[in-house]
Amino acid sequence: MPELPEVETTRRGIAPYLVGHRVVAVTIRQPRLRWPIPAALRRLLPGQKIENVERRAKYLLAHTGAGSALLHLGMSGSLRILERDVAPGAHDHFDWRLDSGRILRFTDPRRFGSLLWQKPGATHPLLAQLGPEPFDEAFDGVYLWTKSRGRSAPVKTFLMDQRIVVGVGNIYAAEALFAADIHPRRAAGSVAHDRYARLAAEVKRILAYAITRGGTTLRDFLSPDGAPGYFEQELFVYGRAGEPCKVCGTPIRSIVIGQRSTFYCPRCQR
Ligand SMILES: [Zn+2]
Repeated sequence: MPELPEVETTRRGIAPYLVGHRVVAVTIRQPRLRWPIPAALRRLLPGQKIENVERRAKYLLAHTGAGSALLHLGMSGSLRILERDVAPGAHDHFDWRLDSGRILRFTDPRRFGSLLWQKPGATHPLLAQLGPEPFDEAFDGVYLWTKSRGRSAPVKTFLMDQRIVVGVGNIYAAEALFAADIHPRRAAGSVAHDRYARLAAEVKRILAYAITRGGTTLRDFLSPDGAPGYFEQELFVYGRAGEPCKVCGTPIRSIVIGQRSTFYCPRCQR
């Protein structure tokens, strides 16, 4: 599933081909994605110039004078910039034809992705309840400590709550908690202030690093089979159950928290 770093990598890959360009036509082959593609988008997007491409949580927003297109990659979606004569495949659900002659193509075998429309000056309901971005200055130890007081939920569940902070997916939550030496099942309300300061810093560091790694594959956005890079070899705990901790050698354990598999070192994390 594309996580925040892959979405940000996608944004950086496609933005140079979209910003300042006009959408000449929108071709929709499959309108039934996770939600139906709204009629307003079909009516309003063609003819508009894309002013900016922004990321909010795992949504990409292409802003125009008439409103903004919201794109979500879902479980298996990808966006690519292609020359206009590349024939569509079975899972290529929509294209935006640009005045440059190129197209933006959305491919999604499982169809959990979405293409929605936001009116100018409005906030789409899907974005209204979201917490701060992890790279915001407001996201720090004081913020996490304040938000967590009185909460008995596991700290991992707290960290993955999109109302607390957006974009910290399962892999990155496990890795950040390991880097901060915090046991994923510890009650969020029992984590001390200085440990939250370290956790916030580790979340920023790990996500920023993953984006840098994804950035090495940007050229793939101009090829038919491009996919952002992952950094599996560099994971400390995620997916490593039974393997030795890279810090202390203790076997990594796997448990289920909030219906998600999580991985931790029983010695390093308290
Ligand atoms: Zn360890």
